[in-house]
Amino acid sequence: MSIDRTILFRLATSVRLERAVRTAPRGEGLAWRAASRYVAGRTHEDARRVVGDLYTRGAASSVDQFGELVRNMETAEQVGEDYRRLATSLATFPDDAWLSIDLSHLGLDIDPPGCADQLAAIAQTLPTGRRIQVGAEDHARAGAVLRCVLDVAERGMADRLGATAQANLHRTPEDMEQLIAAGLHIRLVKGAYVEPSHLALTYGEPTDVAYLHLAHRLAEVGASYALATHDGVLREALLAALGPAPVEQLLGVRPDVVDDLISRGVPVRVYVPFGNDWFRYWMRRLAESRGA
Ligand SMILES: Cc1cc2nc3c(=O)[nH]c(=O)nc-3n(C[C@H](O)[C@H](O)[C@H](O)COP(=O)(O)OP(=O)(O)OC[C@H]3O[C@@H](n4cnc5c(N)ncnc54)[C@H](O)[C@@H]3O)c2cc1C
Repeated sequence: MSIDRTILFRLATSVRLERAVRTAPRGEGLAWRAASRYVAGRTHEDARRVVGDLYTRGAASSVDQFGELVRNMETAEQVGEDYRRLATSLATFPDDAWLSIDLSHLGLDIDPPGCADQLAAIAQTLPTGRRIQVGAEDHARAGAVLRCVLDVAERGMADRLGATAQANLHRTPEDMEQLIAAGLHIRLVKGAYVEPSHLALTYGEPTDVAYLHLAHRLAEVGASYALATHDGVLREALLAALGPAPVEQLLGVRPDVVDDLISRGVPVRVYVPFGNDWFRYWMRRLAESRGA
């Protein structure tokens, strides 16, 4: 693992750095100016506007309200309520708009069964044909996230859910078979978290090769999946081999690629985050833009 990647990742997840920048004179304003490329805005209405613009360009969206690592029940329940409201309001968004969520935002760390109940309630609230895509977090949470998603899928809601598979983790090929068997939509990513080498492949060639194998496996079994990567070489190699598989991108990363893919008939979905907790998300994107 490169030392730069480790340092940039630590900075990107540092609460102390966030506090220092946000309290510095003009710090918050300057940071927001730079971050706004990756963020729809602070409110639900900002997200709706960006989703509408993407729809006009021919891209679908997945809307996420920022947040993670919730450590008390009251906040987790509030987040669940916000998401149920968001799920209801999807009926007024373009009909290909989905939701995204990280389960630690919904109380996974404090009450896993309660988190599954909340995820089920959100999925049930979605208009027909929509999904809620569950993000993948660090390795320590991978088992709990998998169990929660499978639990809700088993309640007859697989067609309302999506899961995320991280190519870098050693456990992913096995986990992915369970997600495939459950009939979930799978978003294949390289993996954003820096993990120890006994748990994960290193960033770069080993992860890219794993990504290729996993994508071929998804295509081979006819799973519902998307290639969520900005890596042009990997993406084009897979599109050439598999045909126009859906591609997912993060808002603000390589926006020109979105238009190019659409013009070539490749379905594109863009992750559209909004809310006040944008700082650490922006720092991670900044780190990745430097090749971290
Ligand atoms: C829709 C979507 C959802 C995701 N969800 C998750 C998740 O739930 N869990 C998880 O662990 N990871 C998730 N990821 C993140 C993913 O794991 C990677 O960390 C991230 O996408 C960067 O890897 P890459 O595949 O784009 O390849 P890289 O090799 O990192 O990047 C490819 C190229 O894109 C450029 N690039 C990458 N990021 C930026 C940027 N911010 N600004 C400018 N250029 C950039 C790089 O410089 C490089 O040239 C998601 C990614 C996407 C697209």
